[in-house]
Amino acid sequence: MIQNIKRNCPICNSQNKKFLFRQKFSLLSEGSLLTGYDVVVCENCGFGFADDIPEQTEFDIYYQQMSKYEYQDSGGKESGFDLMRFQIYVKTIKPYLLSTQSSILDLGCATGRLLSLFKESGYTNVKGLDPSPVCSDLAAKLYRIVVQTGNLWDIEIPGKPFNCIILSGVLEHIRDIDRALSRLSNILSDDGIVFIDVPNASKFSMYQDAPFQQFSMEHINFFSPFSLSNLMKSFGFLELLSLKENYPQSPNTICPSVSGIYKKIDNVNPASIVKDELTEIDLSNYITQSKKIEERIHQIINDVVDKASSILVWGTGTHTLRLMGTSRLSQAKISAFIDSNYRYQGKTIFDIPIISPDDIKNRDEPILISSRVFQESIKIQIKDILKLENNLILLY
Ligand SMILES: [Zn+2]
Repeated sequence: MIQNIKRNCPICNSQNKKFLFRQKFSLLSEGSLLTGYDVVVCENCGFGFADDIPEQTEFDIYYQQMSKYEYQDSGGKESGFDLMRFQIYVKTIKPYLLSTQSSILDLGCATGRLLSLFKESGYTNVKGLDPSPVCSDLAAKLYRIVVQTGNLWDIEIPGKPFNCIILSGVLEHIRDIDRALSRLSNILSDDGIVFIDVPNASKFSMYQDAPFQQFSMEHINFFSPFSLSNLMKSFGFLELLSLKENYPQSPNTICPSVSGIYKKIDNVNPASIVKDELTEIDLSNYITQSKKIEERIHQIINDVVDKASSILVWGTGTHTLRLMGTSRLSQAKISAFIDSNYRYQGKTIFDIPIISPDDIKNRDEPILISSRVFQESIKIQIKDILKLENNLILLY
């Protein structure tokens, strides 16, 4: 059994935390990381984070074994929405690079598309790092990009440190942020820059999403523009640029994000931390809103349970594991779960098998689509690609 441990504030190390919400998940038969966590804010600096979670090594094993970033449905290619986001990154970062000879490292690079965009615009000295070996194979095949398999702790300190290190959608996943930033500092040249992009937790309540989806299994740090600045200041980085962007993730979902560009400085001034007053307010609003949306979803699930006929459930991520742990969905007659990620197929949830979309061709149970962000694309896959006639149960 994985042991959970309390965290001090990853930014200011304070032990004083305010509890906001307990997030709960049910477990997969194997490959699970968490049964839930406490969403808290630091009373000293205002940073929001997940408390009572496993140690970093457990996260490292999870990312190596359960990658969601291999994009198997599309032969390793990310979505058009991700591509648009990457194009904005390149435009943002380029003015801060000294020359096309600058060495660029993308940490958590998935299948390497962002690096391939840099390569297309003349930057040939690019390298990626990703925990999934499948990602490094795909990056080589699709874009001829070299991707080392591993995580931040494995990367060798190069003879010549990197001129630019990119962490896009990475810092919100890391438990030991302090260790990560000191590692980063070691592999970055003195005049080098770091680009960071994370979800903006001070805006969660302003954008529609599935209830509590922002408190996912994988996201354990909830940054605002203030707390990202505070973090980088406390670990010896100077902020050169701070941006708030909103990136579409699907036709009906927008992710608020905060990003910045930083360089190393010698003297750290802890007094320069400014308390983040926004995160607690917005996370509290987001929790109230999520509870409201969830009531409506529970109604639909209650109807399904009361009808007592067998159903299939499409999706086995945070959305489903949360509903199995917190609604009556676990009392429904679920004959199977469906997931297109092969890493989930063959496992079980409450002893119910997880099967692939191809396995449902001769089954006539209604399909409950357990996703907000991908509801439309799953609908298209069922009706237009698999050409199935099954009734659909939609939660959104
Ligand atoms: Zn703090």
